[in-house]
Amino acid sequence: AERNGHEPEFMQAVQEVAETVIPYIAQHDIYNGKNILLRMVEPERVITFRVCWVDDQGEIQVNRGYRIQMNSAIGPYKGGLRFHPTVNMSILKFLAFEQVFKNSLTTLPMGGGKGGADFDPKGKSDGEIMRFCHAFMSELFRHIGNDTDVPAGDIGVGAREVGFMFGMYKKLRNEFTGVLTGKGLSWGGSLIRPEATGYGNVYFAQSMLNTRGNSFEGKTVVISGSGNVAQYAAEKAIQLGAKVITLSDSSGYIVDSEGIDAEKLAYVMELKNVKRGRISEYTKKYSSAKFVEGKTPWGEKCDIALPCATQNELNHEDARTLIANGCICVSEGANMPSTNEAIKEFHKAKILFAPGKASNAGGVATSGLEMTQNSMRYSWTREEVDSKLQDIMSDIHKSCIKYGTDDDGYVDYVKGANIAGFVKVADAMLAQGVV
Ligand code: NDP
Repeated sequence: AERNGHEPEFMQAVQEVAETVIPYIAQHDIYNGKNILLRMVEPERVITFRVCWVDDQGEIQVNRGYRIQMNSAIGPYKGGLRFHPTVNMSILKFLAFEQVFKNSLTTLPMGGGKGGADFDPKGKSDGEIMRFCHAFMSELFRHIGNDTDVPAGDIGVGAREVGFMFGMYKKLRNEFTGVLTGKGLSWGGSLIRPEATGYGNVYFAQSMLNTRGNSFEGKTVVISGSGNVAQYAAEKAIQLGAKVITLSDSSGYIVDSEGIDAEKLAYVMELKNVKRGRISEYTKKYSSAKFVEGKTPWGEKCDIALPCATQNELNHEDARTLIANGCICVSEGANMPSTNEAIKEFHKAKILFAPGKASNAGGVATSGLEMTQNSMRYSWTREEVDSKLQDIMSDIHKSCIKYGTDDDGYVDYVKGANIAGFVKVADAMLAQGVV
């Protein structure tokens, strides 16, 4: 706390892990007295750098770029890049810290990292995005590599941005390697990677529901966000027979009483990914929907909630409202969308709750599969990747049950994910000595 007290999001993420892992360490002699958690909360390396670029008006702009190389005990650093005006050290350290546990849970050999810039992509032309991405990579390239650190997308970084960054990396290094994941299909990308985080979240929620003899069939689902994760969580939930009634962005949410079906979702994908419009425009096209400005969707009555936008978007009052309205399952697509107080409410009510580090791990897991395909110079089919993704999500669910089942049979997925993620990384760190 002395060193990191000024970083609230990072402190929040560490506190959540510490509460479950410290008692476990105390009961296990091999970890006791080794300061293992203290070593894990200190990033192995933090890089910050200037990003200069020229906007369409000819003005010179300056942003701050970052890469947090958190932990490489079990593999090269791996984690996304976020472009958003709120990006700062606290947010990226929380994301990098979570990533270490998440990557460990996937069963694949990946360490944890995260990066990005305080750049706002909203309203920027394609040319401006390209110049920014090229400028960003003209420094980042010297710190990453396919055996060192393999970044991917996150908020504000999708296929377009990964393409521009890959182009600059390749030019500067004169090598074609899988240094970034989320690449286009014709130049090293993997099938199912765009869908993986959203699909994986729904697969995980499905496993949780199955433990109580339940499923998505006929359930009402509330989703926040309308970006990559939200879109594909909605797609899979609809395929499994659920009625999805909301999507949102930072301006507010839309609620469609008739449900967002496959055709309406196709419109949303075009609106957000091609036209780069706002979710409120949905109501102009579909009269069954209304737009609620400046609010999150947690007040809408639902059976299942999938928060897929951003950190701390669901607080303890939202949690109470969801529970009072009969919600039985909350599965996080975003990273740390629920506050620690909200999580305590879910646990108290003994409803199914999955923390993002378990339920959204399908994205990075499929990035891991992209790295494997790149190394083999080979591509798996859609069915092959989807089936591997389902197996990985099912394995993560089993690990959570193994380490998270309380004496009364309730599964605390937060505890399960934290301890399962911790054990693998801690064992590797102990084996490698004090370095
Ligand atoms: P996108 O940029 O594609 O979409 C982000 C969505 O969240 C947009 O609808 C955006 O609205 C909304 N949003 C962003 N910031 C805020 C905010 N401060 N308040 C309210 N809404 C906000 O990002 P992704 O879908 O990729 O990421 C969403 C979440 O999932 C993040 O927490 C990310 O870390 C996490 N995640 C993503 C993975 C991936 O594979 N992409 C993997 C694992 C986790 P607006 O357009 O108005 O900004």
